[in-house]
Amino acid sequence: MIEGRAFERVVETGNAAATQALGAALAVVARPGDLISLVGELGAGKTQFAKGFGAGLGVTETIVSPSFVLMAEYSGRLPLFHIDLYRLSGAAEALAGGLVDERQGEGVTLIEWAERLADAMPAGRLDVLIDGSGDDPRRIALRAGSAGYVRYLEALPEELVATEAQR
Ligand code: ADP
Ligand code: MG
Repeated sequence: MIEGRAFERVVETGNAAATQALGAALAVVARPGDLISLVGELGAGKTQFAKGFGAGLGVTETIVSPSFVLMAEYSGRLPLFHIDLYRLSGAAEALAGGLVDERQGEGVTLIEWAERLADAMPAGRLDVLIDGSGDDPRRIALRAGSAGYVRYLEALPEELVATEAQR
């Protein structure tokens, strides 16, 4: 993890559509091999973010949480790999840093409950930390773990970043 505010930005979304729009805007700068960790309590909006991210990659299939398979794959501009460790925390040991399949190098991997992989997660990743639940607005912190992920922070829609000054 790189320290310092330059590598973290915080946005606020008032509804699920805004969280999807955030995901879609970030997907524009996605590159092969990217890894994105989605962290937040049950109902925080991790899957909403994933749905939007998929839409931004041009995925037309409906994205649902892959609770009963280790990883779901969707095709878009880049392949999208979606992992959800909520019910599969026992499988965390089977994942070497979020990787199960060499094809992930050609696409983007999103991991819900990625904190369960703890130190097994490589530092080279984007963290999406979602705070809030229910109908409350979500405070979403985006952290670039290495310089290569700063492009995601630069791609943030300014209208979402507007609340940053209120931190
Ligand atoms: P998770 O995958 O984190 O468990 P989901 O994305 O499946 O959570 O569910 C989030 C729920 O919260 C959805 O029912 C969604 O409509 C609702 N919601 C309300 N406000 C927001 C928001 N600002 N961002 C995301 N989801 C929101
Ligand atoms: Mg989910």
